[in-house]
Amino acid sequence: MAAGLVIVFDFDKTIIDSDSDNHVVDSLGFTEKFDDFLLTLPWNSAIDNMMAEIHKQGISVQQIADALNTAPLDPHIAAAIKSAHSLGCELKIVSDANKFYIDTILEHHDLAKYFSEIHTNPGFIDQDGKLRILPFHDFHDSSHGCDLCPPNMCKSVIVKGIKDKAMKENKRMIYLGDGKGDYCPSLQLSKMDYLMPRKNYPLWDILCNTPLLVKAEIHDWSSGEDQERLLLQLIRRFLNPIQPAQGLYVDVNEKNAMLINSNISAKIM
Ligand SMILES: [Mg+2]
Ligand SMILES: [Zn+2]
Repeated sequence: MAAGLVIVFDFDKTIIDSDSDNHVVDSLGFTEKFDDFLLTLPWNSAIDNMMAEIHKQGISVQQIADALNTAPLDPHIAAAIKSAHSLGCELKIVSDANKFYIDTILEHHDLAKYFSEIHTNPGFIDQDGKLRILPFHDFHDSSHGCDLCPPNMCKSVIVKGIKDKAMKENKRMIYLGDGKGDYCPSLQLSKMDYLMPRKNYPLWDILCNTPLLVKAEIHDWSSGEDQERLLLQLIRRFLNPIQPAQGLYVDVNEKNAMLINSNISAKIM
């Protein structure tokens, strides 16, 4: 079977440049109420309660969708997604947002067709016209058993499935993310894979401050423009392995990536 690349994107602050839950809540003027829910509930339960409250206040699902459509999505990231797809990569999303938010935003930007799989918390409109957001993993039934992750989702469980399939098909992976919840799945990557953490965000901090357990080659990015350039460099390097490596390490981010690698290597030794 032909070799290929599977690219897994986190969604919030990786594809869009905000947290979709906070974006909706803030746009509709419920920031304080949401903060109240978060005092006593896990995030995923708090956002479901928040949607019930929003419904009670007479706000329609269309108004929620309208708010989602104003979430910032850098055109460079849209371009990166389209280019990666046209170069034959398989694109997936693994996100702790929810299906309704992600589908709405991707459709608004005409990006849904580029993704073969979206793994996220269920989000649907119930018979009362209320948006419900449920946990990906039903933690009321049993725990997923991972201490690193929130009770509703351990992304490792999902990424391990994607990784096992990729290995059988002789495919390598690129994983892009920003958050704490992206650390656990990063541990599933092999040294043949690439990890793209967002610089100065929680995943990047963990990678810098803890002993290295991640085997994948790490390349950090800051802006949408960086993400596009770096992702396409990695894809092209993969597609043209004879290309001299020297030409690839030309910009600041590549140098930072090398710094991260060398910092972390230094800690192992
Ligand atoms: Mg994120
Ligand atoms: Zn986990």
